[in-house]
Amino acid sequence: MPESVAEGGMADAERDILAELEKALGEHIALILRWNRKLMFPDSPHPSEMDDDEHDCDFGAWYELNRNNRLIDQPAMHALAATHQQLHDSAKRLLSARAVDGEIDSAEFDMMALRAESFFAQLRRLERAFRTARSDVDPLTGTYNRQTMMGDLNSERERAIRTQVPTAIALVDLDHFKSVNDTYGHQAGDLVLQSVAGILQSHVRPFDKVYRYGGEEFLICLPNADMKQCARVLERLRRVIEASPVTISDSTTLPVTASIGAAPMTKSRTIEQIIEKADRALYAAKEGGRNRVRVWRSPDTKPAPKPSK
Ligand code: GH3
Ligand code: MG
Ligand code: MG
Repeated sequence: MPESVAEGGMADAERDILAELEKALGEHIALILRWNRKLMFPDSPHPSEMDDDEHDCDFGAWYELNRNNRLIDQPAMHALAATHQQLHDSAKRLLSARAVDGEIDSAEFDMMALRAESFFAQLRRLERAFRTARSDVDPLTGTYNRQTMMGDLNSERERAIRTQVPTAIALVDLDHFKSVNDTYGHQAGDLVLQSVAGILQSHVRPFDKVYRYGGEEFLICLPNADMKQCARVLERLRRVIEASPVTISDSTTLPVTASIGAAPMTKSRTIEQIIEKADRALYAAKEGGRNRVRVWRSPDTKPAPKPSK
């Protein structure tokens, strides 16, 4: 059932809207997986999905119920609702054509993918605007700060368990960063941190989230990523960081690299324990020579595929 946004203080209303945006994100990651599966294997629905309506989601009804609230009655929120409607319309057309004449229209399929991407990007932008207003953003790097992180990660973990969508946590730690400060000064170090934070935020997928975990460490939450996909996204990040030296003065450009460790979210581990596994993988990346990605795997799973570096 959709709920009304709190009438009380601004902070309560913002909190309710943020919770709804997060919920919409998770619901639609799961819906899109489900639509894709149904397009590919129309006759074998996932057992957990047999009885549900495949277009069922709360977001549209929530928006209609709350659209006159002054925090929701704004162009970005209306644009999000329009993209949301278009996304569902695309999915409906695709699925009904598949059911009636057994075909998938490739142009419509591409359109659905674009609308999904746009929906996630708009959601994240709105979330960011609300978060900035609440001071949830680290002033130096523009990533989310640590205060907001644990609450977010616990919600992500619950969602991953509920929807069975694999989700991972990664820690990114700059290599030999202390020597940047020692050699070129703290301000140069700050420029490096800003540059890397910018790369992380612009090269993750639209629904991934980047937090400043500590001084020169960032944490990334990657929903909808099994460890293989996660390693791919992280390897891409590592390469972009390596290929993006930072100019700190007219005559000085500094090479920058980062080591990255990741671990999957699981039912049996708390967020603290998952971060601890990611930290172990990060330690292995440092021990392995830095500037590399390592993924934590439990001793009872199959050996990891050979890392790319
Ligand atoms: P490693 O490759 O093992 O990670 O080595 P490292 O030098 O990066 O690691 P270490 O933990 O020794 O150093 C981290 C440094 O980050 C020390 C601290 O002064 C610096 N630092 C932490 N926060 C900030 C910040 O906000 N700005 C700047 N410029 N430096 C910071
Ligand atoms: Mg560190
Ligand atoms: Mg470091």
